[in-house]
Amino acid sequence: MSITGATTTELLERLERGDLTSVDVTSAYLDVIEKRDGQVKAFLLVDREDALRQAEAVDKKRKSGTAMGALAGVPIAIKDVLCTKGVRTTCASKILENFVPPYDAHVIERLKAADAVLVGKTNMDEFAMGSSTENSAYQVTRNPWDLDRTPGGSSGGSAAAVAAAMSPVSIGTDTGGSIRMPASYCGVVGLKPTYGRVSRYGLVAYGSSLDQVGPFANDVRGAAVVLEAIAGHDPRDSTSLDEPVPSYTESLEQPLRGLSIGIAKEHFVAGLDAEVEKAVRAALDVYRSLGAEIREVTLPHSEYAIAVYYLIAASEASSNLARYDGVHYGHRAEKFNDLIDMYSASRGEGFGAEVKRRIMLGTYALSAGYYDAYYLKALKVRRLIRQDFDKAFADVDVIASPVAPTAAFRIGELVTDPLAMYLSDIYTISANLAGIPGISVPAGMTTNGLPIGLQLLGPTFSEERLLRAARMLEKHTEWHKLRPPV
Ligand code: GLN
Repeated sequence: MSITGATTTELLERLERGDLTSVDVTSAYLDVIEKRDGQVKAFLLVDREDALRQAEAVDKKRKSGTAMGALAGVPIAIKDVLCTKGVRTTCASKILENFVPPYDAHVIERLKAADAVLVGKTNMDEFAMGSSTENSAYQVTRNPWDLDRTPGGSSGGSAAAVAAAMSPVSIGTDTGGSIRMPASYCGVVGLKPTYGRVSRYGLVAYGSSLDQVGPFANDVRGAAVVLEAIAGHDPRDSTSLDEPVPSYTESLEQPLRGLSIGIAKEHFVAGLDAEVEKAVRAALDVYRSLGAEIREVTLPHSEYAIAVYYLIAASEASSNLARYDGVHYGHRAEKFNDLIDMYSASRGEGFGAEVKRRIMLGTYALSAGYYDAYYLKALKVRRLIRQDFDKAFADVDVIASPVAPTAAFRIGELVTDPLAMYLSDIYTISANLAGIPGISVPAGMTTNGLPIGLQLLGPTFSEERLLRAARMLEKHTEWHKLRPPV
C-alpha cells in the first residue's frame, strides 16, 4: 500500500512500528501536492521546509522514547480561517492578505500537542461565505473528481486536499454545511460536531452562534482520530462545553444494536436529484440489512431553515466583520479623505461581493424597525427548528438524509445566482441552527462519476453514535475506497 493511498490509522500504525518516518510520510504528501495542486488549487499556502522540519522534530521525539500524541507524524491541512501563529491566515480575503496571527487557535494548539504535521492552509470561500469555494479572493478550487466542477464549499480546499490524497486528514469549519457538503461532493468523510464540542478560540468568526470546527478524512476512523484530538473544553471560548470527550476510536467498530433511523418526508421533495435520492435509499437498505429500523419522522419547520439561516448568519457576520476597519489589522486603503472615508474605502477594497452582500443583508435585518420583523422572528423560528429535532430524536437515534440536493455542480453554474447557491444548503443548515452534530459519509456515485454522500444527524453530543453508524455503512460498502482520476 502506497503512503498516500493509506488511511490515517494505517499511517499511524506504520509510523509507530518504525516502518516509516514522519519525514517519509510528509514528503510523500508534499510530492503529491506538488504534482496535483497546480490543477486542483486546494492550498493557499504550503511551506515544504517548515512541514519537513515539523516531521523531523516528531521523528526525533519518537526516537527519544517519549510518549507520542494521537496524530504523531501525520500530515494535516488546515482551512485558512484558523489562526496559525506566525503563518499567514487570510480567510481567502484581500482584507487579510498580509495578516500573520500572533497566536494559534485552540484547534491548532491541540493538533500540535497531538504531534500532527501541519502541511498547509487550504482555500475556502471568503470568510466561509459560500458553497463552492468560488468566493475566494485568490483562486477557485476544483473538484478532483471532475476539474470542471466545484468541490463544494466553503471548506472546499480541505475537502479536495483529502480527496486528491494531498493530505490524509484536514480541518474545516461548518456554519451551514461547509464541512458536510464539500465532503459529499469530494467523496470523503466530514463531520460537524455539536456546537460547543470544539473550541472556536482563534477561529475567525463568521456566524458565531453557528460556527463549528471539524475534521475531513478518507475514512470514518480518520475523522474519529482527529475529532478526539481537537474536542474538549477550552475556557477561552465561552460557548465551549465542559463535557467529557469519549474515545471515539475505541467504540467505532461496535455496530449499533437496534439502531433506529429516521427519515423526514420534508427531505424527499422536488429539487432532490434522482440519483442522489437513489443513493440515500440504497444506504438505508444497507442499514436495514444490518438490522436497523427505518421510521418516518417529521421536521415541519425545515421549510423555513434557509430564510432563518441567511438572516441569522448574515446578521452575525455583519457584526463580526465590523472589526475589519483598516485600523486594527488587515488592509487599509491608501487614498482617503477622513476617518469615515478610510473605513469605507478599506472595506470597499478589501471585501468581495458576497461578503458585502451578507454585511448589507445582516445590517438591514438588525437595524431599528426591522430587527423585530426579521432578526427576532428568525430567532423564534430557529427555536421551532430545534424543537422539531428534539421531538424526532425522542423517537429515533439518528436522522438520515441527503447532504445536498445534487452532486457537485459546475464551476460558474450558480455563482451568479446567490439564491440558487443558498438553496444548495437546504439539507445541512438546520443542524447548525439546532446546534446538533452531523456527518457526511460516502454512499454512492452518479452515472457520470461524481461522489454522493449520506448525511446522518444526531442529538447534541452524539458524535460517538454518528461515527459508529457511519462506520457501519462504510464497512459494508466500497464507496470510500474509490479514488478520483486526477
Ligand atoms: N453556504 C453557507 C453560507 O454561505 C454555509 C457556509 C458555511 O458553512 N461556512 O453561509
